[in-house]
Amino acid sequence: MASIFSKIVNGEIPSYRVAEDEKYFAFLDINPLAEGHTLVIPKQEVDYLFNLDQETLSGLVLFAQRVAKAIESVIPCKRIGVAVLGLEVPHAHIHLIPINSESDIDFHKPKLKLNPEQLDAIAQKIATKFE
Ligand code: AMP
Repeated sequence: MASIFSKIVNGEIPSYRVAEDEKYFAFLDINPLAEGHTLVIPKQEVDYLFNLDQETLSGLVLFAQRVAKAIESVIPCKRIGVAVLGLEVPHAHIHLIPINSESDIDFHKPKLKLNPEQLDAIAQKIATKFE
């Protein structure tokens, strides 16, 4: 069965899309730790990040770099923090999270409550800066 993220890539499930090319896709996390919390995935469905082939993994990191640049250009922050968990969704993904301190990337923290209009506006702002 296709993962929830493959369904997002195929347009079967809606998402707040930030960036896309032939091999990769980036969209907002629906339970964000911070405004601009984004997930970057390969379109190819592989569960574990470190089981990706070398070309796909390196391409994913380079794609994530471009997404991170776009996020930091619209969300004030010190850094874009990077996390890989993959405990919930079995489709490789990288979390990109705007942070100002270590505690901003604590996954135990309560998630932000953003409404669809807010998420849509954030995604669009980031998307316009993606190069
Ligand atoms: P993990 O697999 O542990 O890295 O966690 C999966 C992440 O995906 C969580 O932060 C969820 O909030 C996020 N997530 C799950 N379903 C969706 C969805 N349909 N759209 C956006 N983000 C999602």
